[in-house]
Amino acid sequence: MAELVCFDPSCRERYAITDVLYNCRRCGGLLEAAYQFDHDAGRLKKLFRERRMSNDPLDASGVWRYRELFDFLDHYSCVTTLREGNTPLLEAPLAAAYGGLDRVAFKHQGFNPTGSFKDNGMTCGVAQARRLGMRRVACVSTGNTSASMAAYAAAAGLEALIFLPHGNISFGKLAQSLEYGARTFQVEANFDQILALVRTLAEKMGIYLLNSVNPFRIEGQKSIVFEMLDQRDWRAPDWIVLPGGNLGNTSAFGKALREAREIGLIGTIPRLAVIQAAGSAPFHDFIENGGEFRAVEKPETLATAIRIGDPVSWPKALYEIRASRGVVEKVSEQEIADAKAQVGRAGIGCEPASAATLAGIRKLTAKGVIARGADVVAVLTGNLLKDPDYIYRYHTGQLQAPGGAKIEPRFANRPVVVPNDADRIAELIG
Ligand SMILES: *Cc1c(COP(=O)(O)O)cnc(C)c1O
Repeated sequence: MAELVCFDPSCRERYAITDVLYNCRRCGGLLEAAYQFDHDAGRLKKLFRERRMSNDPLDASGVWRYRELFDFLDHYSCVTTLREGNTPLLEAPLAAAYGGLDRVAFKHQGFNPTGSFKDNGMTCGVAQARRLGMRRVACVSTGNTSASMAAYAAAAGLEALIFLPHGNISFGKLAQSLEYGARTFQVEANFDQILALVRTLAEKMGIYLLNSVNPFRIEGQKSIVFEMLDQRDWRAPDWIVLPGGNLGNTSAFGKALREAREIGLIGTIPRLAVIQAAGSAPFHDFIENGGEFRAVEKPETLATAIRIGDPVSWPKALYEIRASRGVVEKVSEQEIADAKAQVGRAGIGCEPASAATLAGIRKLTAKGVIARGADVVAVLTGNLLKDPDYIYRYHTGQLQAPGGAKIEPRFANRPVVVPNDADRIAELIG
């Protein structure tokens, strides 16, 4: 039987799984779904593998295939699946060399239906919305959450309301929300201010909130770890490296790993390495300096998916960093841009926030925190085509960091203008 439980260890208040609740009524803490697991690990592994042969939509989903590990629904008729998950684990020798590793594998969440890992969580959040009989869902987003929510709400027949900071969002992501038919509001405020606004609206109008504070999205994002472990025949890596914005994914990964060990699917817990952009690194600074958690008032980075000054899930993320003996690193705009070009050159490609992973690996191997021979899985969170403007500017030497500093196009690949002349072009090709 599943319950909602306050994450705060000094509270642990319990609520029904069907309560419409985003924070603890008693202490205001974050909530999580909790289960009493009673599984045979060997039987589960066999079941998950057999489901890959099945054409049942639930089994064909790379999220719902693992449904015993987030068993919060009492029936599955309220699930809307776009066959999310099913993302590849890609060996990338060129990127490994750049990162200072013998080898690295990218778990590429950009292969999802709307191009980011938000789909893993959204299919669960929307299932819960339907189970509760909600007609409207809402989120505030730097882009990928809204693109994902818009798609799943449309597929499920729900009304989607999206709130965006005016300006500073990638065009590709906004375009997705419009195409999927979501009502889209651009607000003259930053992410954190709009989140407060939408919470008020949700309460007032009975709208179901699908931001990452929603515990069911976190449940779905656990499947990224389960699928990765399944693809490795349940051999846990030494490290899992991922970018950190609101820190929902960090929370989901840590919970997935702890539960996988509790059930006996894995024997050891990999260390988490969370990478933030230097201009939006409140979690990094908190871990490094200690003291009170302090939000960054004006978060800045071209990696808009991790441009978060006041990450809602930091208490969960802190717990998971400790539980996994993890580390938090920050990287500059130049480091992100260079790493992104390297992921591209490896034939893989990703959006800017995702590239923070490889930039972070390079820094952590240089410091000796991650050993050259370590077994590392790096999570690429979003698709290359999410932010084509960034790519064009980089390769043509026009990319500027927030504040105006030029980003050096160290690995630029400029388009060349040529005359309509076969001989001249043949000469150029050489
Ligand atoms: C949402 C998102 C992130 C940040 O994930 P959090 O869970 O907010 O830390 C990173 N990269 C991409 C592409 C995203 O869409």
